[in-house]
Amino acid sequence: MSQESTSTPEPDVVVVGGGLVGGAMAFGLARAGARVCVLDEGDVAFRASRSNFALVWVQSKGMGMPEYAAWSKRSADGWRDLARILQEETGVDVAHSQPGGFTLCLSEAELQQRVDGMTRLHNQINMVEYGYEVLDHAETKRRLPDIGKDVAGSIFSPVDGHVNSLRLFRALHEAMQRRGVDYRPGRPVDRITPEASGFRVFGPWGEIQAPRIVLAAGLDNARLAPMVGLHAPVKPSKGQVIVTEKTAPFLHHPMVTVRQTDEGGVMIGDSQEDLGFDTVVTQPIVSLMAERAVRMFPRLAGLNVVRTWSALRVMSPDGFPIYEQSTAHPGAFVTTCHSGVTLAANHVLTLAPAILAGALPEAVSPFTARRFHVPAHA
Ligand SMILES: Cc1cc2nc3c(=O)[nH]c(=O)nc-3n(C[C@H](O)[C@H](O)[C@H](O)COP(=O)(O)OP(=O)(O)OC[C@H]3O[C@@H](n4cnc5c(N)ncnc54)[C@H](O)[C@@H]3O)c2cc1C
Repeated sequence: MSQESTSTPEPDVVVVGGGLVGGAMAFGLARAGARVCVLDEGDVAFRASRSNFALVWVQSKGMGMPEYAAWSKRSADGWRDLARILQEETGVDVAHSQPGGFTLCLSEAELQQRVDGMTRLHNQINMVEYGYEVLDHAETKRRLPDIGKDVAGSIFSPVDGHVNSLRLFRALHEAMQRRGVDYRPGRPVDRITPEASGFRVFGPWGEIQAPRIVLAAGLDNARLAPMVGLHAPVKPSKGQVIVTEKTAPFLHHPMVTVRQTDEGGVMIGDSQEDLGFDTVVTQPIVSLMAERAVRMFPRLAGLNVVRTWSALRVMSPDGFPIYEQSTAHPGAFVTTCHSGVTLAANHVLTLAPAILAGALPEAVSPFTARRFHVPAHA
């Protein structure tokens, strides 16, 4: 096996995967002073990062794990800094805006279900505090004049926002490369072996060594993690998205299923289906999404759809992130989550510097995969 040819010295850290999570980790590590090499299979792989809904979303997150609500809120709070840093370092405006988000409900029963869910969420011990309001039809219409008569009411929270996700992806890549990250596309990692001095990483392209390794390979983390004594039982969860032609700005807040992008198109999403590695767009799901969106905003019926797509979320068994350092092979970390846009600020500003320092922060201690190791009862 040949050594991967390189003009740069051995990196301090190899990051496997150059999606939103790997990009954020690599940029954060380089910003903190590390020499970083990113090995990325590239667009041929399943890549949630180029097909998501672009929300920076906090409301409704963390049922069953309030630490996740706190982690999401912390990232939402850090997003203004991240957007500013990316703009300063790359000149790319990621169109971050955090005007607060709505969850629109199309019946009284749906609204009541949401209200009950929010009450249970916020009644949890150690739940992070943030405001939210339950609005009836009239108050929702006062704030969102274009809603249809079928909207029974909504939940509004001031913490939610959105970005231009493709520009975020580009900005992270540009930022990491300007910081000297050695980004290598077309380098799938087949195998990793722990050694006394670190980790040896192999692929059809050759091999490379580093004292630290960060697994950020999305769905492939499930295969790679056991090679370094970690466990990342992530599975695909399919989401379908519709985008319309551009139209004059009318929607100044993101919703969990409808948002107008900074460029004018309206995105409608995003379903959740557990169908393995299937990425086919299916008409019944897309029709249902469109029908609900038109009931929310009747003016959408007059817009042409320009594209539909589906993509795979990177989902752990309980839906929460997995962040862990290997105890068998210290220096190996796994980082995976299904909200890589929302959590990008934490990944760049908190997690990456902590990994360089050698230990994960206390705030992420609940997110180890040890929570899945429940002993079987007799
Ligand atoms: C429909 C949909 C809607 C979403 N909406 C939102 C949202 O509104 N807000 C939000 O915060 N998040 C959202 N997400 C989730 C977000 O897109 C993901 O959290 C994020 O993209 C995950 O990034 P990742 O880098 O972990 O994985 P990926 O984007 O899948 O990237 C993995 C990377 O690893 C590389 N790779 C894989 N295997 C290997 C290997 N063996 N060797 C080398 N490289 C490898 C791939 O080439 C790829 O570049 C959504 C996702 C979907 C699918």
